Amino acid sequence: MTKIKLNGMLTAYDKKNLTIATVCSHSSLQIFNGARKEGFKTLGISIGKKKKFYDAFPLGKPDEFFIVDNYKDILKYTEELREKNTIVIPHGSFVEYLGADKFLTLELPTFGNRDVLLWESDRGKERKWLEAAGLTMPQEIKKPKDINKPVIVKYHGAKGGKDFFIAKTYDEFQRRIKKNRSFAIQEFVLGTRYYLHYFYSPIQDNAYKLSKGSLQLLSMDRRDETTIDEVQRLGSIAELEELGIHPTFVVTGNIPIVIRESLLPKVFKMGEAVVEKSLELFGGIIGSFCLETVVTEDLEFKVFEISARIVAGTNPYISGSPYSELIQSDMSTGRRIAQEIKYAAKNNLLNEIIS
Ligand code: ATP
Repeated sequence: MTKIKLNGMLTAYDKKNLTIATVCSHSSLQIFNGARKEGFKTLGISIGKKKKFYDAFPLGKPDEFFIVDNYKDILKYTEELREKNTIVIPHGSFVEYLGADKFLTLELPTFGNRDVLLWESDRGKERKWLEAAGLTMPQEIKKPKDINKPVIVKYHGAKGGKDFFIAKTYDEFQRRIKKNRSFAIQEFVLGTRYYLHYFYSPIQDNAYKLSKGSLQLLSMDRRDETTIDEVQRLGSIAELEELGIHPTFVVTGNIPIVIRESLLPKVFKMGEAVVEKSLELFGGIIGSFCLETVVTEDLEFKVFEISARIVAGTNPYISGSPYSELIQSDMSTGRRIAQEIKYAAKNNLLNEIIS
């Protein structure tokens, strides 16, 4: 959507009567809860039918449901949604299931900078961005024949780690690879995983200062992945592989975690570098983002992915995290997003944080 079109939409909006909307999935309970705490009206876009379980969570339930048959149908109802002064909060499922290309054309004011998708959804460009920012990524193995240490094989477009596998040799790779699917091979980094949840505001200077605006660290999690995280209950991986049982990486939930305090300077340096480089490349990664990392035994971070929006790993922190409590009590990422929109609306800065 062009800047001119967006500005037209925002000008027509009643800024005192904004509605925060997202698709009912992923982190929506948190987003609605945060928006409600900041006094916004909320709207849940529900695919297929209204989801019954929201009734069990009155403080996470949207004020209104907007039912569509499928994700693509959201594109048809944008005018109706604009009449409600809707600002959309994207999350992982929303973007993944609508499709990045369609999401880019969605004619609704959307929190964050949608241009980030052009860098994030292309593995080559993502690597360029993160490495240019000085981050260390797991080594990429271009030719399967060159596999000479444990690697993880990732299929393109896989959702939540589905079908990823570990291979230790070229032979093993050959046995496991599914033909006709494109993939990438990465060195398997041994260490502990930390998924770091940042929030970048280009319009507020009240946190870790950057060349423009400031950066916060709101929380962190570790993903719970089946079966890799539980496989040892049955025996060693080597033992099980002999029986044809291979560990998998499907995300089933998220576990709260904190990091050694002495690593926080590195955490901020990485976040800073990613934001500064993004400002240079495409006008900035705005709002929440997550660096998915492994910390090695030498206390070095290897970053295997960036998520440029609210991640489900923030869900354990609806009433605040050990980090956000040091900023403001009872503040989730969902609430922080609502606060940013409220601040921008009040100061006539919405076009700095919306695309
Ligand atoms: P999402 O888009 O939901 O973040 P994805 O499908 O793109 O997931 P990744 O996040 O890249 O997949 O990887 C899935 C999981 O595989 C990670 O959460 C992590 O446990 C593991 N993993 C990924 N890359 C590596 C690596 N290089 N070394 C060790 N483990 C890895």
